Amino acid sequence: MKTAFITGITGQDGAWLAQYLLELGYKVYGGYRRTSSLNTWRLDYLGITDKVKLIDFDLLDYSNIYSAIRDTKPDEFYNLAAQSFVGTSFKQPISTCQVDGMGVAYILDILKTISPDTKFYQASTSELYGKVREVPQTEETPFHPRSPYACAKAMAHYLTINYRESYDLFTCTGILFNHESELRGVEFVTRKVTTHVATWANKETGKILEIGNMDAQRDWGYAKEYVRGMHAMLQHSVPDTYVLATGVTTKIRDFIIDAFKVIDREIRWEGQGDLEKGFDQKTGELLVSVNPAFYRPAEVELLIGDSTKAKDILGFNPETNIAKLTEIMVLNDIDLFRKGIKF
Ligand code: NDP
Ligand code: GDP
Repeated sequence: MKTAFITGITGQDGAWLAQYLLELGYKVYGGYRRTSSLNTWRLDYLGITDKVKLIDFDLLDYSNIYSAIRDTKPDEFYNLAAQSFVGTSFKQPISTCQVDGMGVAYILDILKTISPDTKFYQASTSELYGKVREVPQTEETPFHPRSPYACAKAMAHYLTINYRESYDLFTCTGILFNHESELRGVEFVTRKVTTHVATWANKETGKILEIGNMDAQRDWGYAKEYVRGMHAMLQHSVPDTYVLATGVTTKIRDFIIDAFKVIDREIRWEGQGDLEKGFDQKTGELLVSVNPAFYRPAEVELLIGDSTKAKDILGFNPETNIAKLTEIMVLNDIDLFRKGIKF
């Protein structure tokens, strides 16, 4: 039986990856950061909480990471833990750098010292491209990070490659473009939109969606499919860096329009910039309102990835397009909302 250690097991990707590896017959250890209240809702949702072995794990604590690796010596180590929200990284730049950058330095050095045969996956990000130098972005496109989050992830990305080149460790980096799902955190724009749309499934409960920059564009895929790409990277004979993306980009504005269409509501836009608002075409109800509080100090305007390399070498071929993904998320949130879940 193969063993895998997943950091960030309580996060979106950690939960999907754990489910996938369990299906493949792995023994799964999950790095779990102690919190004062239980936060295993994603594992509960997938019905796998009791099937993974949770291990105390905090990326800020070297000795804790050391014990976790010493006690498990996994065949594969997936580092998915991070302060993963770009918006928060502007407010908490130091802790973001410590967790997303230094934390990875700790792991790599411990693996090199006590578990050099463990294969390592680092969750890199399309945010590294930032102010993009090339369209679409590939493994060769230069980076131009635009947030403390992206800067910290750049450090982790290069360290991972450096440990591969310097010490012959099997370390892979996946430059993943945005990927969403029913398990996405509610502060990210897709889930923020779909949870708000869900409240309009009952007229009386509808909540106005306050939104930031609607002109940014993202290449959105389905997280459940992307975790298979992470696993495939560690099964290949040589460690490498791969882009995972769909190759299709969508404006935030169009995502909002399409999400409301799932509940048969058309948006009529009025005003511009900070004053822009979206009303229901038929009823005139206010559905969307721009709020500059959600603008970022520096924005990543356009992301669109080319994952030809992952397709050719790993057989990565995501099937869920943005229309299907939008529908999955909205319908799931309506279901949760009707069951009384508060967003
Ligand atoms: P989530 O925000 O859903 O999950 C992050 C996880 O990291 C949570 O389990 C969280 O634990 C854990 N974590 C945070 N800080 C620490 C810490 N100090 N020590 C240990 N664990 C910690 O992220 P996703 O699942 O969406 O993303 C997975 C990874 O992929 C992240 O590294 C992210 O940056 C990266 N990524 C994600 C993309 C996406 O579109 N989803 C795109 C590209 C990269 P807790 O529950 O306790 O908060
Ligand atoms: P990111 O690509 O990792 O930053 O993922 P997000 O889902 O947080 O943001 C995607 C894009 O949506 C960014 O360009 C944000 O500026 C934009 N955006 C616009 N309004 C909002 C909002 O209210 N919340 C979030 N999270 N993003 C928003």
